[in-house]
Amino acid sequence: MSKKINTKCVQGGYTPSNGEPRQIPIIQSTTFKYATSEDMGKLFDLEASGYFYTRLQNPTNDFVAAKICELEGGTAAMLTSSGQAANFYSIFNIANCGDHVIASSTIYGGTYNLFAVTMKKMGIEFTFVNPDCTEAELNAAFRPNTKAVFGETIANPALTVLDIEKFAKCAHAHGVPLIVDNTFATPVNCRPFEWGCDIVTHSTTKYLDGHGAAVGGCIVDSGNFNWMAHAEKFPGLCTPDESYHGITYAEKFGQGGAFITKATAQLMRDFGSIQSPQNAFLLNLGIESLHVRMARHCENGLAVAKFLQSHPKVAWVTYPGLEGDKYYALAQKYMPNGTCGVVSFGVKGGRKAAEAFMKELKLAAIETHVADARTCCLHPASATHRQMNDAELAAAGITPDLIRMSCGIEDKDDLIEDLSQAFDKI
Ligand SMILES: *Cc1c(COP(=O)(O)O)cnc(C)c1O
Repeated sequence: MSKKINTKCVQGGYTPSNGEPRQIPIIQSTTFKYATSEDMGKLFDLEASGYFYTRLQNPTNDFVAAKICELEGGTAAMLTSSGQAANFYSIFNIANCGDHVIASSTIYGGTYNLFAVTMKKMGIEFTFVNPDCTEAELNAAFRPNTKAVFGETIANPALTVLDIEKFAKCAHAHGVPLIVDNTFATPVNCRPFEWGCDIVTHSTTKYLDGHGAAVGGCIVDSGNFNWMAHAEKFPGLCTPDESYHGITYAEKFGQGGAFITKATAQLMRDFGSIQSPQNAFLLNLGIESLHVRMARHCENGLAVAKFLQSHPKVAWVTYPGLEGDKYYALAQKYMPNGTCGVVSFGVKGGRKAAEAFMKELKLAAIETHVADARTCCLHPASATHRQMNDAELAAAGITPDLIRMSCGIEDKDDLIEDLSQAFDKI
């Protein structure tokens, strides 16, 4: 039976048989036992599927990955220890030293640093493009050695909305996949595969877990990208892997399984960024209520954005779900049921006023976190970006007055009252 997304959040990924545990069991074991060496050899040769060592795969993780795979409408998925690991693997699985990747310039700071600094040291070059660029500008960024295009559905914290169809069209015209980090929208609000994206990544640390309990990541493959049709660009998938007895992933595991199998067999084997089964269990508990929570996060986000828009002490508000926002039309197209709970705004009076305002908040806690059931907020100019002067902040797209508020699932009237009383005191 084809399930709706709300049902998939609750029941996807794991269907117990007669007498088996109702809840996903935590398989807290590093290793798995076999009767003969031959049995185990087949696993090492990827001739049989099964578990042998939790650095590569664990049943608890695979149940939860299968749920996220169903939610996104993909063919295969894997959990990683963090969102950073998911984004690193998603690129490094297909781009090597000497290759080039195009990424949206408004992506999460941690991802920007991973691409522009750390992966650059590995010999992979990135070109950052404005997500609002024209097709012609995007096409001009491609090189013969370009291997992927990367963006975020809703960028953290810039709150730009990616025109997924435009990016997918240009990526495919150049024979490479589009990878989209869908952390902020979640599959409840947007399924990038339905718009031509090929690979989705997540920081499950955010809304999917949703309770600030466990750091984690996930990669999902749509199974739609034909690696073999572009075999010369993707030798890692389309020619024999000598470290795995000459297996050619795209042949043996097909279009739907090659990407995730290679990332597991090579990258997880060598880098070992596995999520702990305990964290995967907590992640699943979070996802069971994802659809219920997202509706409330969005309701609260919109109510707070509207309140801020009408407040005399607020200089500006950015929220893609707010009518009049620069990204409202794109948000309506890709996320008609809601965007996320994160709102950015500026306090009149700049840095000093923003700092004073933050001190007066009572419910909204000051944290470098977003997408949590509990409302939290951050003043980047005095916290994450405090080493920067105003000119450097501007280059990073952050103004000194900017406050990022992640609306939780509390009562929206209480959130507004908290903001209101803090404004009264400055
Ligand atoms: C937080 C975040 C990441 C990094 O994820 P971690 O789980 O913290 O490693 C990547 N992308 C986006 C959009 C994020 O918000």
